[in-house]
Amino acid sequence: VIPCARENLARYGGRQTVTALPGDGIGPEMIDHVNRIFSFAQVPVDFETIQVSSENPREEDLENAIVSVQRNGVALKGNIETKFDDPHFKSRNMEIRRRLDLFANVLHTVTIPTVPSRHKDIDIVMIRENTEGEYSGLEHESAAGVVESLKIVTREKMQRISRYAFEYAMKYDRKKVTAVHKANIQKLGDGLFLKIASDIAMAEYPEIKFNAMIVDNASMQLVSRPQQFSGGIMLMPNLYGNIISNIACGLVGGPGLVSGMNFGDKYAVFETATRNTGTTLAGKDIANPSAFIRASCDMLRYLNFNEYADLISDALFETLTVQRIHTQDIGGTAKASELVNSLLENIEKSCVNSKYR
Ligand code: ADP
Ligand code: MG
Repeated sequence: VIPCARENLARYGGRQTVTALPGDGIGPEMIDHVNRIFSFAQVPVDFETIQVSSENPREEDLENAIVSVQRNGVALKGNIETKFDDPHFKSRNMEIRRRLDLFANVLHTVTIPTVPSRHKDIDIVMIRENTEGEYSGLEHESAAGVVESLKIVTREKMQRISRYAFEYAMKYDRKKVTAVHKANIQKLGDGLFLKIASDIAMAEYPEIKFNAMIVDNASMQLVSRPQQFSGGIMLMPNLYGNIISNIACGLVGGPGLVSGMNFGDKYAVFETATRNTGTTLAGKDIANPSAFIRASCDMLRYLNFNEYADLISDALFETLTVQRIHTQDIGGTAKASELVNSLLENIEKSCVNSKYR
């Protein structure tokens, strides 16, 4: 599977139903922004909204959410808060990814002109295994004061994510794949990952450059000389992928700007790259809606509504770079609603222009 249009989803009267999972914190207001933009631009998408929240967790909410995504095939998702205090309470974000087998997390981190960043010319695709490894959720205290946390990896899933990365490189013309690992210490687990990735590189994708980098060095390289990864893909197991992609998002403007995609063989879930709840920002009209808006554009492209995706993402880009409407997180003073207002004006302008052209 590759992040591209689905042809076989049920569409009635040309309209597509999509699951909205607002989640906690800023999620619900972000879905509201997207709803406002979609209705203004007359996007032929209807949301089926299912609230899964940590406020009053009910088992059936999670089941309803999963059945809804299975029915619609596609979801736009906010983050569900995971409480730290109860060791038996599994992250429902993870549970959703695992149950839908959304094995590939794909982020595109790119510097945006006028958005302050330490480095220029960053353009890196991050592909992260999304279902196994350290996220098995299997931990126990084998003796008092001794805890075992199981990192479980399988050849099958490592092959699947590695092939996914190389297929992505072929399709989107990325020149290089860098596998990030810690095979010097985790000799069996990460060693297998490294071997699988390099075997697939050599045997199946000789036209794509392949290299490997130890995760600690990769972190240092990323903050000091990130351009070396530009034009390429970083291929990562689950936990390293989580950490490394947060570094990359930080480099290009932070949690309010970057979107993230989750793909399996059957379903796709679109969300923000760093999956934050933003609880302290909720209800204040200050959280940057750009990441969520970009997630909605990724979703529209996946649904083959490319014209709507371009219309909205061009309008957002203009808001950020020409009008320079920046929220607090990137050094501005604008409210989220001001950013959305400006985006709607830009949509209006480009519709008027195209009408009289
Ligand atoms: P987590 O969900 O992992 O607990 P937080 O919600 O605390 O993480 O988010 C991490 C940081 O990112 C916080 O400082 C938060 O204010 C910031 N943040 C998250 N989302 C946004 C956003 N949309 N706009 C601006 N800042 C954000
Ligand atoms: Mg939080």
